[in-house]
Amino acid sequence: QAKASGKACYHFYNREMNLRATRRLEIERELRHALERNQLTLYYQPIVNAVTATLEGCEVLLRWQHPDRGLVSPAHFIPVAEETGLIVPIGEWVLRQACKQAQKWRTAGLGLNFISVNISANQLRGHSLVSLVRGALEESQLPPGALELELTEGSLLPNTLTARDVLEEIRAMGVRLVADDFGTGYSSLSYLKIFRFDKIKIDCQFVRDMLEDAGDAAIARATIAMAHAFDAKVVGEGVETPRQAEELARYGCDQLQGYLFDKPLPEPEFSQRLPGQRG
Ligand code: C2E
Ligand code: MG
Ligand code: MG
Ligand code: MG
Repeated sequence: QAKASGKACYHFYNREMNLRATRRLEIERELRHALERNQLTLYYQPIVNAVTATLEGCEVLLRWQHPDRGLVSPAHFIPVAEETGLIVPIGEWVLRQACKQAQKWRTAGLGLNFISVNISANQLRGHSLVSLVRGALEESQLPPGALELELTEGSLLPNTLTARDVLEEIRAMGVRLVADDFGTGYSSLSYLKIFRFDKIKIDCQFVRDMLEDAGDAAIARATIAMAHAFDAKVVGEGVETPRQAEELARYGCDQLQGYLFDKPLPEPEFSQRLPGQRG
């Protein structure tokens, strides 16, 4: 009997796997055309000052407006884009588009100090990121000091030495480097020494249970203290309640981001939130 159920399980597992593989191939095939079909779009999530709650900047988050599937979350297609290398042309589009948009807001007199763009591991292979960043800044006329790049530990570890050189060169232009999802990897402390970050983002997993879980609170506080010791600013991610915001501010966190302030928003809605916007 055990054998029979084991077999059933095996069949089920197989079917699941096939289904997943098929779906994945489908996503891959469709993602290849998403850019040229104008299905990719950028959303912007406010990042606010932790003390005054005034808007300082935003994170740029990619969305796929699929004709049948609706709005596809990056959790579903970014991993496929990374494995297939499609993230390189897509990431290039994101950065150039985001810089252009940010400069539009600036010239319209809308107060926004920075935009923050996510960068993945594949984009850090070789040295092409340097010329991409330089080009995106030049063509948009966005000042380098208004651009931040978010990197995760996962994106830095596969090619640490190249990544360090590439990022130092970009940082020398005046672009700020941000450690994203801090604390979720395995060697966060040593990589703070190798890379010079201007900002560290406390991952939402620590913020979520911070008020109930003393361990998560300790990690949040230690991250803030350590970031400041490195002369870096700190952002609390995934802030959903006023109490989380107050507690992070009390710990000395500099900036906050989360549904409490706003979800990621498409362009027209986001720019209506910007200070300086009339009407
Ligand atoms: P991330 O860079 O850590 O981005 C933060 C994620 O947290 C976003 O998910 C955002 O919508 C979500 N979030 C914001 N506030 C809250 C909150 O209060 N509660 C909760 N539970 N979540 C919140 P999103 O937009 O689904 O993006 C997921 C991930 O996809 C990002 O994580 C990033 O790693 C990746 N990603 C998004 N856009 C890009 C891109 O243009 N390029 C690359 N390489 N990766 C991207
Ligand atoms: Mg990010
Ligand atoms: Mg993050
Ligand atoms: Mg994340």
